[in-house]
Amino acid sequence: MAKEIEKSGKKYFECEECGFIYKDRKIAEECEDYCKKHHACNTEITKHSIKI
Ligand SMILES: [Zn+2]
Repeated sequence: MAKEIEKSGKKYFECEECGFIYKDRKIAEECEDYCKKHHACNTEITKHSIKI
């Protein structure tokens, strides 16, 4: 499960495998699934990551 992060009153979701942060829980979970399966990141997913 993607980890929920709260920052400045907004919610973000972190992939627990690679640590990338997403605004969208669904994408964070897709990332985590991919990371767990392949032990690598999918750039099609990580391009949606954000910096907080
Ligand atoms: Zn990931």
